Amino acid sequence: MIKSVAFCPTCKVNLMVEHIERQKLGLCHAFQLNCSLCGKSIELTSSKEVRKGGNGRYSYDVNGRSMIAFHELGDGFAGMMNFCGIMNIMPPLNRTTYSDKITKLHDAYMFICQKA
Ligand SMILES: [Zn+2]
Repeated sequence: MIKSVAFCPTCKVNLMVEHIERQKLGLCHAFQLNCSLCGKSIELTSSKEVRKGGNGRYSYDVNGRSMIAFHELGDGFAGMMNFCGIMNIMPPLNRTTYSDKITKLHDAYMFICQKA
C-alpha cells in the first residue's frame, strides 16, 4: 500500500493518502499524499499520463490499454461499458473516441502487416 511506504522526507512521518474523485480519469485513479506536520502535498496517478504532441490532449495509459483489451477480446465498446457499470467506475472513453481509436489501431495493424 502507498500509505506504508510514503513518508515525508522532511518530517519522517507517514503521509496521509486521499483518493481524489474526478470524472475524467476513466480507469485511472488520482491520489493526494499530505504531510500532517509540514503541510507538504504530492499528487500522483495510478497510470502514466500520455499526451499526444507538445500541447495535445492528454489521456491515461490504462484507458488506452483497456480499450485495446476489450477490442481484442471481442467485447468492444459495449463490453467496456458493461465492465465499468458493474465496477461502478466511469468509462474511460465515449463511443466516438472509442471508434476513433479503433480506426487508428486498425491503421497501425495494417501498417505493421504491410511491413512484415
Ligand atoms: Zn512533512
